[in-house]
Formats: sequence, C-alpha cells, structure tokens
Amino acid sequence: MAPPARTSESSLRRELCDAGRALYDRGLIGPLDGNLSARMGDRYLLCTPSGSHKGELRPDDLVKLTLDGRVVSGGRPSTELLMHLEIYRVRDDVRCVVHAHPPCAVGLTVAGLSFDRPVVPEILFAIGEVPSVPYSSPTTRDVPDAIRALLARCDAFMLARHGSVVLCDTAREGVIMTETIEHTAKITLAARTAGGATPLPDAEIQKLLGLANAARAQRTPQTNTPPTSDAPDAALVESIARAVMAKLAR
Ligand SMILES: [Zn+2]
Repeated sequence: MAPPARTSESSLRRELCDAGRALYDRGLIGPLDGNLSARMGDRYLLCTPSGSHKGELRPDDLVKLTLDGRVVSGGRPSTELLMHLEIYRVRDDVRCVVHAHPPCAVGLTVAGLSFDRPVVPEILFAIGEVPSVPYSSPTTRDVPDAIRALLARCDAFMLARHGSVVLCDTAREGVIMTETIEHTAKITLAARTAGGATPLPDAEIQKLLGLANAARAQRTPQTNTPPTSDAPDAALVESIARAVMAKLAR
C-alpha cells in the first residue's frame, strides 16, 4: 500500500511543473526530453504529456491516469509511460519518478562506463547503487522488461545511451538526485581528462553502500534489505545522508 497522499492535486501539479523547469534550466534535459510522474493517492498518477517542453509546463498540461494507464483527463501521456507504470507496480513505496537526459552521465554510458565504481563518495551516500541498464529502444515494452529485475535493489539507474531514472518521494528530491548523478559524471570526466579516474577502493564502496542501504531501509522497510547487526546506526546514517542532500541542494 502506498503511503497516504500528503499534497493536494493542485500542489502536486505545481511540483511537477517546477521540477520540469528545474531540470531544463540546469541542463539536465533538452526541451522536449525526459518525463516525470507522481502517484496521487492509491488510485491515480499525474504524468507529463508527450512531446511537451518541460521548461514551460503548466499545471493543466499534466495528464491524469489510473495506475493501470487509463487516461482520466488531459492529453496524450509521455511515451515512456510503460516504464513509469512498471516502477509504480513493482515499488509501492515510490511516490515520484523523474527521467532525465543528463548529458555527461549519458555520455559516460555511451563510452561504456558506469557508476558501479564511482570516483567520489557522495553519489553512494545520497543515492546508493546506480547501475546501468543495457540499451533498449525508448518508448517500447523492452524498457520496463529491462529494468524490472533491478527495481527491488536500487532507487536510481542509468538507461545506457538514453538517460537517468530516479525513484523518489517528491519531484524536487528527484531533481536533486539527478543533479547528483550528473555532478558525479562531471567529476569523473574531469578526472579522466586530468590523467585518470581512479575509483574508490572496493572496501570503501561496500562501506558506503552499507551506510546508504541502512538509511534506505529505515525509509522503506518493506522493500529493502534489513540492516545487519554490524550496520551503522540508522538514525546517524539518515542524518548524514540528509546533510549531504542539503549540501547538494544549495
Ligand atoms: Zn528519455
């Protein structure tokens, strides 16, 4: 059962429009790229319309649908709706999905690189694991088929040669997560340009993932791996994660 709705439909519509504008203003999508959706109670979704300029969205532009994809009001929903529906079907804790085309992060996937062994810790703290999904044709059923297996273990992933997808609580949080991914990609590119993008040691990656998973388990205990006996204090981890998110949001 999804958590109860905390905002009105009009507030949710404004939040999605604000997030679309932020993604566009910050260079994380081209004008017609990407798509956003948000769960509204336990029966409906709001989704960006197909082919819309995400920097110029108005609340009334958004499409209202049932959770099985029937349009209730508005125009034609995003062509990536199948992917959004699959995420909400598998992850009933997810309230919002933000799909963007952050250029540096996507460029890394074109070069065959991933965030499996990042060069800096923040992405692990703030998001956790960000796996790459092999390329599949956008808008087709191949995309939900490709992502299904990893939805239980991560809150963000890269679609190779295509874009980022983040599973979040609010659209604003989704923008911040997308910025974190792109910022990490920029640092990786800078390091490679300067002579070498040495990844964090494997032991450190595992330690940071443990911290992130403990915080994640506290937020969504029904869908995540429970902390082990030697896991760090979850409240402390949560406060660290929030501090990192706040820092990244500034
Ligand atoms: Zn896309």
